[in-house]
Amino acid sequence: METLAAVLWDRSSPWSVEPIELDPPGPDEVLVELHASGLCHSEEHIVTGDMPFRLPCVGGHEGAGVVVEVGARVSSLVPGDHVVFGFVPSCGRCRQCATGHQNLCELGAKMYTGRQIADGTARHHARGQDLAIACMIGTFAHHTVAHESSCIRIPAHVPLDRACLLGCGFVTGWGSAVYAADVRPGDTVAVAGVGGIGAAAIQGARLAGARVIVAVETVAEKQDLILSLGATHVATSWEQAAAVIREATWNRGVDRFICTMSRGDGELLGQALAMTASRGRVVVTNVHPAAQRTVSLNMMDLTLSEKHIVGTIYGSGNARADIPKLLELWQSGQVDLDAVVSHSYPLEGVNDGYEDMRSGRFLRTVLRYPAADALDARTAREARLDGHLQGQPA
Ligand SMILES: [Zn+2]
Ligand SMILES: [Zn+2]
Repeated sequence: METLAAVLWDRSSPWSVEPIELDPPGPDEVLVELHASGLCHSEEHIVTGDMPFRLPCVGGHEGAGVVVEVGARVSSLVPGDHVVFGFVPSCGRCRQCATGHQNLCELGAKMYTGRQIADGTARHHARGQDLAIACMIGTFAHHTVAHESSCIRIPAHVPLDRACLLGCGFVTGWGSAVYAADVRPGDTVAVAGVGGIGAAAIQGARLAGARVIVAVETVAEKQDLILSLGATHVATSWEQAAAVIREATWNRGVDRFICTMSRGDGELLGQALAMTASRGRVVVTNVHPAAQRTVSLNMMDLTLSEKHIVGTIYGSGNARADIPKLLELWQSGQVDLDAVVSHSYPLEGVNDGYEDMRSGRFLRTVLRYPAADALDARTAREARLDGHLQGQPA
């Protein structure tokens, strides 16, 4: 079939929104009509080359949609199911999945191939070439074909243009605070860089019971929004952060320092460690350029103060449990997904969306596709019909 997708043909060039050819799903795969996709910073790393990835490539790894067709061996999904794509697959059977670390599922090792998990071939094609797909899903498209292991079924009443955030950023930020940092009641926490991931980390730290949450965010106009998510202080520079943290922690430093910047920086890692308390932990969530090999930090802090530095991917959790849990927390009003979505564009607006991201003015931008509008119209029509049947004014 033909569908519309955003393809990156060359590094440092704009996304090209064009028709592509999509093969039917293989035996372990599903065809999904996408409703929405978040714009995560990782695609920007593909564009700049900080993250070397196979081109040409259909971007997008933070998507949600409705299953249209399933392959012969697919056992957990049927057409009509609503799904969020996990940007790391979770097979449920490998050593990592079986020990409660779905974020490290061994199928994830195939991510850099850009091809299908099952057989390493491509279902996506354009201009006579095979296309790679980001994170083995490729959500900057109206339709995609992906492996069953990449799909997590969610309740049909959850709006897909909010649920898509759980495909990467929100679970990553939330888990960075709740699992990787292991924030405990009364802890003092710093979150450096407040985009979609930082906004979720602040909410995770708040729900875990942090007493102090210092957000370090250089774009001052986001300050009120950041405070509304649960931050207790906002610093607009690292120098100011050091002063605020000294004051808020009686000079001890924060118990947990979570790095969720648009791009990691080996110099700042040392500053983060310096602002962290004895036995405290620095969590590295943000991506550092693949070629970066140097960090500047006082190693004495590791020995004499028992400070920890840990990395995390996809929030160090289990997407099949955490995605439904976060949707329940959203429904009960305890986490805010709506405030995280600053702006939405159609697929054709993908380059405008990345321009917004570079400006740093917004938390998360979402691409919303025609299928989402069609579903909204259908739901509104059914609600009117219900009212009519119950004798209420339609
Ligand atoms: Zn991402
Ligand atoms: Zn697995």
